Amino acid sequence: MRHLAVLTSGGDAPGMNAAIRAVVRTAIYRGRTVSGVYRGYQGLINGDIHELGARSVANIIQRGGTMLRSARSMPFMTPEGRAQAAENLRRHGVEGLIVIGGDGSFRGAHALSQEHGVPVIGIPGTIDNDIYGTDVTIGFNTALNIATEAIDRLRDTAASHDRLFLVEVMGRHAGHIALNVGLAGGAEAILLPEVPHDLDEVVSSIVEAQARGKSSSIIVVAEGAYEGGAMHLKEKIEAACGYEVRTSILGHMQRGGSPTTRDRVLASRLGYAAVEALLEGQQGVMAGVDKRGTVFVPLEDTWSKQKEIDWQLFEIAKVLAV
Ligand code: ATP
Repeated sequence: MRHLAVLTSGGDAPGMNAAIRAVVRTAIYRGRTVSGVYRGYQGLINGDIHELGARSVANIIQRGGTMLRSARSMPFMTPEGRAQAAENLRRHGVEGLIVIGGDGSFRGAHALSQEHGVPVIGIPGTIDNDIYGTDVTIGFNTALNIATEAIDRLRDTAASHDRLFLVEVMGRHAGHIALNVGLAGGAEAILLPEVPHDLDEVVSSIVEAQARGKSSSIIVVAEGAYEGGAMHLKEKIEAACGYEVRTSILGHMQRGGSPTTRDRVLASRLGYAAVEALLEGQQGVMAGVDKRGTVFVPLEDTWSKQKEIDWQLFEIAKVLAV
């Protein structure tokens, strides 16, 4: 394989740039040509493919977002769109593709490889950490630190004014962010999509906590945990217990900013591993990490198998909120 390409797809995540840099430099170190595809699969369809040199990825390891830009592409969801993408790769002489993104991006990569024989390798880049087969995804650690810092700041106000704060964090249908920042931020309750919760129980735990002498409370809510989101929950809690509840939706600020050391190291490790694996003839897999170090899992597993939240952490958080 003489020529590789790399793209970022789906939501951006801090550390994607570090992964791009690792892919480009490992390929060049191995004497290969490497191209960047701009704007994800849409760029692949549009032929937005440009060769990258070692210097073109200088000074990006510390930057959030993605220098290759990202996009969501409806045309790539169709066989015609993917045929055009495969044709563009052939025209540029690209023989292998590395896709940095979430599970949707991996579905697209898998379809491209099945239909057109393009060797693909995935690198998990999403703050939500909702991808099976890797303990962590690129961007997760940075998002945790940003959200925890935000909760610390809110707690100052909550404590000064005896207030109840509801803090909604990202994660869509996965509670990994909420669980970790809830524990790290000392939340009184953590509401996750994975755990059915009864609003009456939440309200009575708040009332009991006040009776035990707690004057302020932080409740962390994952964005997919409650229909209608934190605003709806706020109204219900206020109606049920009569307290004034403040709501803070952290939103996209959790996705921006400079990646943490841990995310940069993870991204460098996975970018390097993806290129090495592709050159060794592996394909149709995602490069991830677990206790064994770097691992490769079939792309289909990444979306068809469910990644569990850390139930032990959930128990610990409940005990420590006493
Ligand atoms: P994030 O976790 O940040 O949302 P993601 O990779 O899951 O990232 P998606 O928007 O789901 O983000 O997917 C990115 C792109 O991948 C889509 O815009 C589409 O072009 C392509 N894609 C997603 N699902 C499929 C599919 N089933 N078949 C082909 N292509 C797909």
